[in-house]
Parts: sequence; structure tokens; C-alpha cells
Amino acid sequence: MTHHSEITRMRELETLLEHYNYQYYVENSPEVSDYEFDRLLRELQDLEAKHPSDADPNSPTRRVGSDLTSEFESVEHRYPMQSLANTYSSEELGEWIDRIVKELGEVEFVVELKFDGTAISLCYEHGRLLRAVTRGDGRRGDDVTNNVRTIGSVPLKLRGEGYPDIFEIRGEIIMPYASFERLNREREAAGEAPMANPRNAAAGTLKQQSSQVVARRGLDCTLYHIAGDNLPYTTHAEMLSAARDWGFKISDHTAICRSREEVEKFIAYWDTERKRLPYATDGIVIKVNDYAMQRTLGSTAKAPRWAVAYKFQAERALTRLISVDFQVGRTGAVTPVANLEPVQLAGTVVKRASIHNADQIAALDIRLGDMVYVEKGGEIIPKITEVELSERPADSKPFEYITHCPECGSELVRYEGEAKHFCPNSAECKPQIIGRIVHFVSRKAMDIEGLGGETIELLWQNGLIKDIADIYDLNPQQLAQLPRLGDRSAANILEGVRISKEVPFERVLFALGIRFVGETTAKYLASHFRTLDAIAEATTEELAEAEEVGEKIAIAITEYFTNEHNRSIVERLRAAGLNFEIEEKQRTSNALEGKSVVISGKFVGRSRDDMKALVEEHGGKNLAAVSANVDFIVAGENMGPAKRQKAEKLGITILNEDEFMALISNGTPTAKSEGEVPQKSEEQRPIQGTLF
Ligand code: NAD
Repeated sequence: MTHHSEITRMRELETLLEHYNYQYYVENSPEVSDYEFDRLLRELQDLEAKHPSDADPNSPTRRVGSDLTSEFESVEHRYPMQSLANTYSSEELGEWIDRIVKELGEVEFVVELKFDGTAISLCYEHGRLLRAVTRGDGRRGDDVTNNVRTIGSVPLKLRGEGYPDIFEIRGEIIMPYASFERLNREREAAGEAPMANPRNAAAGTLKQQSSQVVARRGLDCTLYHIAGDNLPYTTHAEMLSAARDWGFKISDHTAICRSREEVEKFIAYWDTERKRLPYATDGIVIKVNDYAMQRTLGSTAKAPRWAVAYKFQAERALTRLISVDFQVGRTGAVTPVANLEPVQLAGTVVKRASIHNADQIAALDIRLGDMVYVEKGGEIIPKITEVELSERPADSKPFEYITHCPECGSELVRYEGEAKHFCPNSAECKPQIIGRIVHFVSRKAMDIEGLGGETIELLWQNGLIKDIADIYDLNPQQLAQLPRLGDRSAANILEGVRISKEVPFERVLFALGIRFVGETTAKYLASHFRTLDAIAEATTEELAEAEEVGEKIAIAITEYFTNEHNRSIVERLRAAGLNFEIEEKQRTSNALEGKSVVISGKFVGRSRDDMKALVEEHGGKNLAAVSANVDFIVAGENMGPAKRQKAEKLGITILNEDEFMALISNGTPTAKSEGEVPQKSEEQRPIQGTLF
């Protein structure tokens, strides 16, 4: 390359890396693999070393990628939050170790897992959590304290003693695989695209506007660094061990190594063993243990010199892209799926891989006949991450994305802010119709036994159902004529349809398949608005007042009810006798109005179910698990010690049976004042005041 073309390449790389940083840190939707990103960063670093006077002082090689957004208040970090230098080569890692040993003599290294989540800094003052801030641009971060408070493993109040009056502890917010898989199941049920991997899911969740949503997502937090003045210990390992005693979650999977060989052994062990962990890791971090030595080594503008990350390469394989299929989901979203020459990857044979959308195809310049890399990272479905350009066939042509629905031929549309193309023909496009009916009858929706995907397709082919309301018009004569459907199955279906009329309103609402209205959102909507008509008549602003309903969901609901076709289906379902209203429990008083309660342990005078029934009769809501959403716990005998500990940590009031009975007997009876929330009398206030 000439001098001129190298400088042009530097500018090109800066722009490209900035763009990838934004997609990764702010949108949580990376366009290329980490390996590819790191390769480009390294290319820029090498060019900058060759042409130092042409290097941009704000180059992505010198700054941490920023996650700052305008949706949270930004707060200055007392101590800057840096990135880590990284390498994928054990040889380079060995050289790094040798260099440090040569400079400092005998050195202890602490080796730790590199958790694949999003960095967080927790600030404690006098043993209490004051603030939780994201890394941001390294100097300032987003204040996400309310969201972090909902994470059970983050102590709100420290245990033991000896902690500094003021300090910051840093670590990673992660989403364990179990929570990640549950989230994606829920997203798919609500017609949303699944999250690509646990890291994006954790980072995206942490930036949610509703901390209730965060609380439900099952995040975890593991900590690995303490920053402060006058820390009570002189090494990193001692500091972490003390932090464990103060109640922080510190990984056990660490070791002290004194040589390159010991570090390599640790890496070799975890390279395979990490696959058994319940959360994602993407490497090993090697840190100099002694604080004085750390200070001697110092930092660059972007990362400390006393630590380095050795990154595992995601398992990947090279294979040929044969063709691309386009799948149409129940919402009309079109997803391209790659058909590959079968290839062995991480223990399975891969024949298909996902490519998210047209932009992704364009960004990677994927073409039919290309040799492509497929990767299985944290995610379950493999995906195409890169094209091997050196093997591109000479006659290849850029990929032309489809313009019309492969199922019904309608012209595809793109909605603002959506990466996918959509088929707008929701009333007639087969996979959309079948998908909606399958969703409607599914277990968590109307739960109609006997109606599986195949039967639905059979009914559709024979012209018996075209939409969800047709299910309630099915009759024995029609079913009897169908081939491949015995009398028993026909009777089962009709019985299932009959029983489904008893399904409670919130599940009917979920079953309608309104975009983004998943199971939980449906529950919140039902309890806020009480009837389907109230939801249908509500404005977007009114809808957004319900818990967990943001603007996007509110708009989807309004759009659903303004569509004529949907309205007629709703009317036919009403005529069929489905539940369009929440079932009102007999209320005795409003003593627990708006309160979430956990009943735990054994009680003297009543069974646990009786206690729960009392909570509802007095206007409260029963929750099963202790979380920051709980207002108080009623503890009987032998309440589990873990529950009690968690409650104490979250500062939740614990009442005994007598105190609970006293509380509800103070409530105002509701019998005469139906529909309005009664005011509490003066005498009751002190009791309420001390409790909440
Ligand atoms: P990094 O993820 O490589 O390493 C630093 C981070 O590791 C720390 O900030 C911390 O959050 C985390 N970490 C996990 N366990 C740790 C432990 N035990 N001790 C210390 N830190 C630990 O660096 P980064 O600056 O967060 O991100 C840059 C990297 O992110 C890039 O190298 C690239 O791999 C990836 N990235 C990818 C894209 C993309 O488009 N694919 C874009 C931007 C960044």
C-alpha cells in the first residue's frame, strides 16, 4: 500500500469501527463478530504505529467504546473505567507475561474468567449502595441504579466490617443462559425477534426504562475489581476475598499463577470446562496481583498495562452457502435462513444458519456460492459471521434481497425502526394465518387440546378455518368429513374449544396475538384496564400508563384495534362467549391495595392458601419470589433462611401472622363503596406509615 492509501485506510477503519461500536454498545445489535472487530482494530493500531503523526487522537484504538445514551442521567466516574488490552494468541500472551516478569522480577498473576456481559460500577458509601453506573465512555456512565437494585445478587447493604467508607466495586452484569432462553421464548411468543446472545440481552435489559421489566429478566452480577483510596489490602486477591465476606458475588473460578506455564494450564482447563458454566464467558483475564506493581506499570488512555484479556475464539467453521430461504412469521416478519453445505461445528452438524435481515446481508456482503464462516457463540442457532473473500467465485453477484412475499406474493414493506421486511397481507398470507392460530390455541393462551399445527393446517386446507374466530364455528359434521381425523380427535377438539371459553381474560388477551403483547404484558394490561373494551378504547397515552407498557407496545395495541378485520374477529369472539373481562374477586377491604405480598412458611391458624386468599380479598397481589417489587413478607414458622436473608438484604418488612391480621382488619370495607378507592381514616395511618 502507498502512504496515501494507508492514510485513507486509517480514516476508513476509524469510521467503520465507530459504527460497529455504536451498534454494539448502544443498539446492542452487533453487525460483525468480535473476532472481526478485533482484527480491524488491530489493523488500525498497526497503521497508527507506522504513521503516528496521522493518527486521530480520538481514534477507537485510544478510547473505550461508549454506551452513553440520553435516556439516563450521566454521572462522572470517580476513577475512570477502562477497557482491557486483548489477544487471541497464547504466544502474544506469553510475551506479555515475560515482559512484565523481566521488568518487575517475581510476579504473581491472578487469573479469572472473562464474563461476557456488560460492565458496571457500584458505588458504596458507609456500606450502602449509592449508585450503579455503566462504563459509558470511561469517564462518565449512565446512572442505572434503579435497575441494578432489582438484581438479587447486588447487596444493597454490606455485611461484616472493614470495608472502606467510600469505594467503587466493578464487575459484570450478566444474563445466565437459563434467563436468556426464557426471555427469548417470551419474545418469540410475543412476536418479537429473539436477542442474539446473552451479552446483548444483559446490556439491553440494563438500559430498560422500567425497573419492573429488569427485575423479571433474571440478571446476575459478578464482581472483579475494587477502586478506592486507602484500600485496606495490598493485593487484588486479598481485596476480592474481603469483598466476598462483605456480601458481594465474587467468582470462585480464579487462581494465582506464578509462571507462563501455570497461566497456560488454567486457560487450557477453562477453554473446555467453561462450556459447562450456566453463563457465557469469552476469555480469561490475567492481572498482576500486587497493587504497588500495578501502579508501577500504569495505564494507557484506554486500558491498564497490568492486565490483559486472552479471548477464546468462538467455535467457527467454513462452509459453502447454497441458498437462502425466507421464512414468514405470524407477525409477517420475514427472516432469511441460510442453507449450507453440512459442516461439523461444536459437536453438531450444521446445515442451516440465521442471517438476521437484509442489512446484515449487505453489511457482510454475503453472496450465494460464497464460502462463509458460521459461529456458535452464546447463541443456540449458528449464524454467519464473515465471508472468506479469498474463496469467492469469480462470477459471483451481490445478493438481491426479495421484494415480494415468498408465500403470498404481496410486496414487502419496511417499517421505520425495524430491521426486518414485513409482508403486510396479514389476512390472507398462509404462514401468518396458521402462525396466529397456532399461537391462539397454544398452552399459555387458549390451551385448546387436540389442535396442533398439523390439524390446523388440515382445517385451513379444507376451508374450515381462516382466522381464530372460525374455531368457535366448527361443528361435528364438518369435522367428520375431514380425512385423517378420527371421531375421537374430532370430539376432543370440540371439547377443547368448549372448555377454552372459561380461560381467564388475560390469557384471551395474550392469545389475540397483538404484536409485543406477551404473557406478562397481557396480565398487566388486564389488571390495569379490567376489560377488553377499555383497552380497545384507550388512547396510546392511556395505554402507556399501564405497568410495563411502553410507547412501542401502546402503538401496536392501537393499531390492532383500528384494523377492521381485527375488530370483526374480536366481535365474533365476544359472541362466542370468551372472557373479555377480568374476573372480580370478592373484596373485603382495600387494606392491601397496590401492595405486593409474599406469604412464606407455616401458619398457626390458617393454611398458606387461606393466607393468600386473604391477601387478594383485601386488594393485594401475591408474589412467589422475594424481589425488590415486594412490599412485605408475611412469615410463618420455618420461613426459609435464604428467603429471609434476601428480604433483609433488600430491606423488605417482614410481618408475623398476628401483625398481618391486624393490618388487614384496619382496612376500609369495600362492600358499600364499589368502584372507588376509599380514603383511609386518620387512625389507620400510623400503622401504614410504619410498615411502608
Ligand atoms: P473487552 O470486552 O474485550 O474487555 C474489557 C471488559 O471485560 C471489561 O470492561 C469488563 O467489562 C469485562 N470483564 C469481564 N470479566 C472481567 C474480569 N474478570 N476482569 C476484568 N474485566 C472483565 O473490552 P471492551 O472494551 O468491553 O469491549 C471491546 C471488545 O468488545 C472488542 O475487543 C470486541 O471484541 C467487542 N466489540 C465488538 C463489536 C462488534 O461489532 N462485534 C463492537 C465493539 C466491541
